[in-house]
Amino acid sequence: MDYCLTPVTDVAAALTTSPAGLDAATAGQRLAEHGPNRLDDAEKKTLWQLVLHQLADVMILVLLSAAGVSVLIGEAKSAYVILAIVVLNAVIGFVQEYRADKAMEALQKMAASHAQVLRDGQPQEVLTADLVPGDVVLLEAGNVIPADVRFLETHALKVDESSLTGESGDVEKTPDALPPGDYPLGDRLNLGYKGTSVTNGRATAYVVGTGMGTELGKIAALIQTAEVVTPLQKRLGTLGKRLSVAALVVGGLFFGVGWLRGEPWENLLLVSISLAIAALPEALPALVTVSLALGAGRLMQSHALIRKLPAVETLGSVTYICTDKTGTLTLNQMTVQDLYEVPAVTLPGLADRNALLTALALNTDATCDPENQWLGDSTEVALARYAADRDYTRPALEQQFPRLAELPFDSERRCMTTLHQTPAGVLVLTKGAAGALYEQLAGSQQASIADLTRRVDEMAAQGYRVLAYGAKVLPAMPADLTPAAVETGLTFLGFASLMDPPREEARQAVAECKTAGIIAVMITGDHKLTAKAIAEQLGIISSEEELVLTGPELGALDEAGFAAVVEKVRVYARVDPAQKLRIISALQARHQFVAMTGDGVNDAPALKNADIGIAMGINGTEVAKEAAAMILLDDDFATIVEAVRHGRRIYANILKFIRYILAGSVGEITALFCAPFFGLPVPLLAIHILWINLITDGLPGLALAYEPSEKNSMQRPPIDPRQTIFSDGLGWFILGIGLLVGGLTIGMQAWSIRRGLPHWQTMAFTVLCFSQLGMALAIRSRRESIFTLGLFSNKAMLGSVVLTVGLHLTILYVPFCNELFSTQPLTVAELGITVAVASVVFWVVEIQKLIIRRRGEAVVR
Ligand code: ADP
Ligand code: MG
Repeated sequence: MDYCLTPVTDVAAALTTSPAGLDAATAGQRLAEHGPNRLDDAEKKTLWQLVLHQLADVMILVLLSAAGVSVLIGEAKSAYVILAIVVLNAVIGFVQEYRADKAMEALQKMAASHAQVLRDGQPQEVLTADLVPGDVVLLEAGNVIPADVRFLETHALKVDESSLTGESGDVEKTPDALPPGDYPLGDRLNLGYKGTSVTNGRATAYVVGTGMGTELGKIAALIQTAEVVTPLQKRLGTLGKRLSVAALVVGGLFFGVGWLRGEPWENLLLVSISLAIAALPEALPALVTVSLALGAGRLMQSHALIRKLPAVETLGSVTYICTDKTGTLTLNQMTVQDLYEVPAVTLPGLADRNALLTALALNTDATCDPENQWLGDSTEVALARYAADRDYTRPALEQQFPRLAELPFDSERRCMTTLHQTPAGVLVLTKGAAGALYEQLAGSQQASIADLTRRVDEMAAQGYRVLAYGAKVLPAMPADLTPAAVETGLTFLGFASLMDPPREEARQAVAECKTAGIIAVMITGDHKLTAKAIAEQLGIISSEEELVLTGPELGALDEAGFAAVVEKVRVYARVDPAQKLRIISALQARHQFVAMTGDGVNDAPALKNADIGIAMGINGTEVAKEAAAMILLDDDFATIVEAVRHGRRIYANILKFIRYILAGSVGEITALFCAPFFGLPVPLLAIHILWINLITDGLPGLALAYEPSEKNSMQRPPIDPRQTIFSDGLGWFILGIGLLVGGLTIGMQAWSIRRGLPHWQTMAFTVLCFSQLGMALAIRSRRESIFTLGLFSNKAMLGSVVLTVGLHLTILYVPFCNELFSTQPLTVAELGITVAVASVVFWVVEIQKLIIRRRGEAVVR
């Protein structure tokens, strides 16, 4: 059936539904029949695919080929050990990835969207996924249309379909059937499509298509959604490729040199493969994903819901947080403090009612339910409640003066108007920002504007939001129901001043931003003086050099003029959402990394263009949430700062992890590669290297992800997103400590061979192992000594070090393992010597940190 050509009643008949909606039982049945209203997941991994994924790793393939070579050269027992290590490695990888998947799944569940439907004639909220054909959905501005729908009733409905048709601009929708013909998507004016957004008005509609049966589903089937790669993963990918080449070169060189020296090729081949494995940081990119996913799980506990994984990593780079005022920096608990009434103003038709209080009660969308709970926008609620407390209630007044039409509030016009039937004619009531209303006053009123402005400015300078009221009476409903036509020639009634107290935790968070090198910027539609007063209370403005700019002032500046001041502006007042885009691009042009909050439909472009778009969880529209990278579940500014702190921690821990793994690899390569140059035999067997790579490196490495925030993490500047991984001395550290680890291993080997100790190989192996563990403990912090941090501040690390030591002692002292790993039990004295030699690495790193502390270097991560 062609839904756009069919009258609404026939559509209802075809879907066996009615304007009262489906009943719960039918909805359940249809859900079973049609399946959930959801686009098929790009690829949902099953448990088996996760396991297979682990085994398909390049490193695993290299390992398996090493096992094959072992069998070929008659070393079957090595092959078993290699296989065991492969399994163990796959298990660890699987557990990690499984946990990461679970964390992401939990996030997706939290981010699941809801829709308003009529079921059994009652409005109720259901999961978007549970919608079925025939459901009646209720839509309003800010909603994302949850399924393909046919409108049944519309009020000034406008829909942005650019996501589907590519055509920008809003399309007006109506319920009327179209004359016969063939219409492209964009011209089907009585249909709404899943994934497009309602920008204005409201509507009721029948669901006609769900899930993959929608127009969006048809497109989604064509497009493969690419997996997101974070900037760090990209850089690690390039690094990985370079290291792979290096690994091949090192392995080949080693084989060649050994061959020339006349060593048996079988052994050489195995060690070459092990060398290649040592140099391959194959696991790094995957481990970064795991850290990010676990980090996202942690952020959710702090009320920051991550929608785009790269945000976890880039949060630490934020230099500017541009945030809405109302609700984020303030409590969004508006209360009317005072009314100012124009003396002796009366309106025909209202009898002896107070005109201003009547306007307060009638010009509102706030409602009060039977339990005395107020619903609606906080400004609206405050005003309606104030009137209700004085016996001007909306239901009673609306009974006498029914609402005929409305022009909803929008943040560009900063006004809203309602029209009511009265005995004297049609009453037009407008409320809005004082400045916006002045322009609409009748000519006779213009004289009083100077006096009004003075009063309003006085209130605003104390932090009050001032709302002005105007009215007029028309003989009949105007033909043209647009703001330009209706909101003119008004008579001023008076104004209400509202207070919305700043959040205490926001004030602390602003202070924290200052030490962390982050600049908090307030963006609001409010009056300049109101915004400035609140900004001062919060500490956002603390000196004369910090500027307040209004939307009109911003509009008057050209690009160069704005670029010159943008870094000094702390408050933008009376701005339109569209101007947010300009603010973002000006800051980005100055190489700032911008987080921007938003809640409305018209904030979506800014949220997409900011480096990190943040939507409000409580007061935000769905459109804003879908455009954002992160959602603030509690709408609190302090949560953003908390998320930045976590972002910095997660990024720092990933760097520590890279530091650890790469320094270890350099150590192993040094030992294997250099020993022959000192006339020594190859210090380690292939199995030993595999053991170190996968057990000694892997376990403590993972534990670094659990390292808590460094004490000074919010007392230093943000991470420069353009800096390479190897800045801040990371490259030198890897090289220096790597050479030290390798040198100690060779030294141990040379010394014990010279002393004629038969266990020289086990001793060298143990030194290599233990020195890695010492490094893991010492690099937990880049600044603080482990003795200040305490061993117990990272229990995962303590546990994994104890476990690794235990495992190592097992292969040293259990005879069966000696057999498998070609190790020998060390005497107590020998073990003591290896521990002492290995601990050198620990002390060197600790001394390096001591020097850092002495020099008072702060920028360390
Ligand atoms: P904010 O950025 O602080 O959320 P808004 O865009 O919500 O600001 O509001 C901007 C201005 O519009 C306010 O200062 C107020 O004067 C006016 N305003 C806000 N809400 C309403 C409303 N419901 N009806 C009429 N005017 C409003
Ligand atoms: Mg607002």
